[in-house]
Amino acid sequence: MKTLLFISLIAFALLQSCMKGKSVDVIIHNARVHVMDDSGILQDAIAFKDGKIIEVGPERQILNKYSADEYIDASQKDVYPGFTDAHGHIFSYARQKLSVNLVGCKSFNEMIVRIEKYQSKHNRKYIIGRGWDQSKWKNNEMPTNTKLNELFPDIPVCLFRIDGHALLANDYLIKKSDVFNQFKNNSELNEGGYIISKTHTPPDIHSHLPIPVNTPTGVFVDNAMNPILDILPDFPESEMNDAILEVQDELLSYGVTGVHEAGLKQFEVQILEKLIEKNKLPLNIYGMLLPTKKNIAFAEKNGHYKNKNLNIRSFKVYGDGALGSRGAFLKHTYADKHDHSGYLTTSLERMKSIAKICEVNDYQMNTHAIGDSTNRIMLELYQDIYSIKPDHRWRIEHAQIVDPNDFKLFAKAGVFPSVQPTHATSDQGWAESRIGTKKLPGAYAYNSLMKQFGMIAIGTDFPVEFTDPFLTIHSAVNRKNSDGIPSEGYLASESITLEECIKGMTIWAAFASFQENQLGTLEKGKDATLVIFERPVNSSPVFQNNFAYTTFIKGKKVYSIE
Ligand SMILES: [Zn+2]
Repeated sequence: MKTLLFISLIAFALLQSCMKGKSVDVIIHNARVHVMDDSGILQDAIAFKDGKIIEVGPERQILNKYSADEYIDASQKDVYPGFTDAHGHIFSYARQKLSVNLVGCKSFNEMIVRIEKYQSKHNRKYIIGRGWDQSKWKNNEMPTNTKLNELFPDIPVCLFRIDGHALLANDYLIKKSDVFNQFKNNSELNEGGYIISKTHTPPDIHSHLPIPVNTPTGVFVDNAMNPILDILPDFPESEMNDAILEVQDELLSYGVTGVHEAGLKQFEVQILEKLIEKNKLPLNIYGMLLPTKKNIAFAEKNGHYKNKNLNIRSFKVYGDGALGSRGAFLKHTYADKHDHSGYLTTSLERMKSIAKICEVNDYQMNTHAIGDSTNRIMLELYQDIYSIKPDHRWRIEHAQIVDPNDFKLFAKAGVFPSVQPTHATSDQGWAESRIGTKKLPGAYAYNSLMKQFGMIAIGTDFPVEFTDPFLTIHSAVNRKNSDGIPSEGYLASESITLEECIKGMTIWAAFASFQENQLGTLEKGKDATLVIFERPVNSSPVFQNNFAYTTFIKGKKVYSIE
C-alpha cells in the first residue's frame, strides 16, 4: 500500500512538472524581440537559463513550454542583443573621469576656470585635464601655454586634446620631461609627431632687419608627446577601479554590454583581470593589445587568451595621428597647411614586423588609419595575410579618409572596416577645411566601405565621442548631430540603414572579434546577453534619447531602470 502511495506521489509530481513545463530562469514576453539573424523575423518572447538562450518564439509557445523563476512583461518594448561598442577606450575614459573635464569648453578661459575649481577640490601633484577642442573656440587656433605658466609656475600641467593625439603642457612640465632635447635626438619622435611653434618678429630695436623667432607654444602632437607621457603618473589603482566601474555603469545604462577596447597596456590587462576576478566587471571586453614588449610576450605565451568575459587575440597599432590635430597622413598636403601632409606614427618597417607577429601568433591586426595615405599603405600591407588566410578579419580602425580608388581594396584584401559614425557629424564643421573639397567623396564613407566588405563594425571611440549608441544610430542613419545639423545630412549618400547600424553594433561587431558563435544574435544556444529598451528603437529624423530598461549579460540582470 505504501509503495502504491509512493508511486502515485511520484506520478503526480511528474505530471505537475510536465504541466508547468521545462524550467528556465527568465522569460521575457509581450516583447518585440529582434533576433538579428538573417531572417529578420521579429519574435515576441524569449526564454533563457544558466546564461544561455533556450528558445525565442511566439508568446504562447514560450509560455506554454517553459516555466520561469522570473517573468518580464515587456509591454511591447524592443529587445535586442546587447550592443557592442566596437571601438572604445575604457581606460582613457576612466582617466578622463578622474581628470579635469575639458569637454565642451567654449574658450581657453573656461578651461582655466575648470582647472582652478578642480585643483582647489583635489589638490593633485600633477594637474591633468582632458577634452579640449580648439575647433569649438572663437578663433579656432591651437592654444598656447602662456597663461598656464603665469597661473601654475611650480606644478606640472598637462591638458589633452579631445582626440588624445595632442597635448598642451606648461613650461614646468616641459622642463621636467626634457622633451625638447629628446625630440632633437630621437628621430622616431619627430618623424611621427611635431611640436607646434609660433613664429613672431621681435621689435626692431637696433634698426637691423628683425629676425623671426620660433617660440614653442606648449602643444605637442602624436609621438612628440612621448617624453611627457613617460613621466606622467597614473591615478591610484583604487581610483581607477572606481572610474572603470563608473564607465561600465554608463555603458550598461545604454544597453552596451561589450566593448572592443582599442589599445591596452599589460598593467591595464591586469587591472581588468582583478576586477573580473572580484565579479565586478561583467562587461564583455575584447582587448586589443598595444604592441609593447610585455604584450608581445603575453601573446607568444598565451596565444588566444580568454578569461571569463575578457578575450584577447589582437594587436592595436597606431598608423597615423588625427585629422583635428593634422596628424592624419594624407596623400596630398593639408588644405589648410600647405607644407604638411601628416605622417605615419609607426614606421612601415615596424608595422610589417607587427604584422608578422600577428601572423605567427594568429592574432588579428587592428590599425588606426585616418588619412587616405595610411589607409592605402595598410590595405596593401594586409594583402599578404589575405593570401594565407582569407578570413583573417584584420581591421582598419576609423578608415576616415579613404581614396575612392582604394575602396575596392577592402574587398580584395578582406579588410574589416571599423568605423565611428559620430566622428562624421562631429567633424562636419572643419573636415573640409583640412582635406579640401575634392577629398570629400572618400570621407566618412561608411556605406561604401560596408558595401565593399559586406559588414562594418561600429563604435564610438569614447571618450573622443559620447558612449551613447543612439547618437551613433542618429549619425549613421540621418548623418546629423543631436541638434539636427545639417538638416540635409552630412555627406548624406554615405548614410546606412537602422538595421545595418544595429548589425554593426551586434552581429557584425561579434564577427569583428571572432565571437559570432556566442554573441550578436538572440539565437538558441548563444549567451543571454540582451537588452530591453525603454523607448522604441527607431531612426527618427529628430534625435531622441533612449536608455536600457533592463540589461542582461549571460542571463544576469546587470542594469535595471527601476
Ligand atoms: Zn580610438
